[in-house]
Amino acid sequence: MGEAKRKKRAHAAILEQQPGCIYCAGVSRATTVEHMPPIQMFRERQRPKGLEFPACVECNNGTSHSDLVASLMGRTYPDSDTDAGRQELRKLLSAVSNNVPGLLKEMQIGRGGQKLALRDIPNLPTGSGVLRANGPIVTKHMRTFGAKLGFALHFEALGTVVPQSGGVQPMYFTNVNAAKGELPKSIIDMLPERRTLMQGKREVSEQFSYSWLLTEEKRHSVFYSVFNNSFSILAVTALDRSEFLARNADQHPVIAPGDFKARRSAAPNC
Ligand SMILES: [Zn+2]
Repeated sequence: MGEAKRKKRAHAAILEQQPGCIYCAGVSRATTVEHMPPIQMFRERQRPKGLEFPACVECNNGTSHSDLVASLMGRTYPDSDTDAGRQELRKLLSAVSNNVPGLLKEMQIGRGGQKLALRDIPNLPTGSGVLRANGPIVTKHMRTFGAKLGFALHFEALGTVVPQSGGVQPMYFTNVNAAKGELPKSIIDMLPERRTLMQGKREVSEQFSYSWLLTEEKRHSVFYSVFNNSFSILAVTALDRSEFLARNADQHPVIAPGDFKARRSAAPNC
């Protein structure tokens, strides 16, 4: 059987097993298979199989720009040391520049800023360039990406979608946050060892690793993913949104199933 045919069959099997979209609590029928994390996140698009999820067209397409932004963020450190890597980064930059207006400008901190940042953050890996990664555009997209990851890993871990009453609270941390000691270490330390995607002997733990913790009654779950040395996402899911801590919600808004659709119609261009 050819690769294309094999893929088609695998996708049909995924959609048959779970016909509802994982991002909108199964309200819409899933007709697409979504890779989370996306293929473009991986060097030379060499993404092992696994973590493929049923999604409806609206949720899938409505969040594609966030996948793009996260892929760019994931590829900014370590610097590519191959021509192919640099070429890929160039492509991502150009796609972001075409599709997400204002983002690249927002991320630039200039040479003076670079110097200050490197002086203030002594624990950064040597050779790091510092990008401003907390502006409103990048934050919005990384929240969406983090929420997607939460919905997806929830489904992977529990075999059920986050229900309509539930939600995801994603938190996004850059390597700068890590260097400043701003990661929620007490939570991360409780998590089991992170695993990665594997296909045969090929594994991608340097590029992506993930881990989760489910409470006993499975009403709350914590998912933690690390992308290169660039950023990490901590996503908490709950079956009931009222159980999220209100004091956290300003900084880390809770995203409900179906929110990606509303967002798309409200802001079609970003
Ligand atoms: Zn959907």
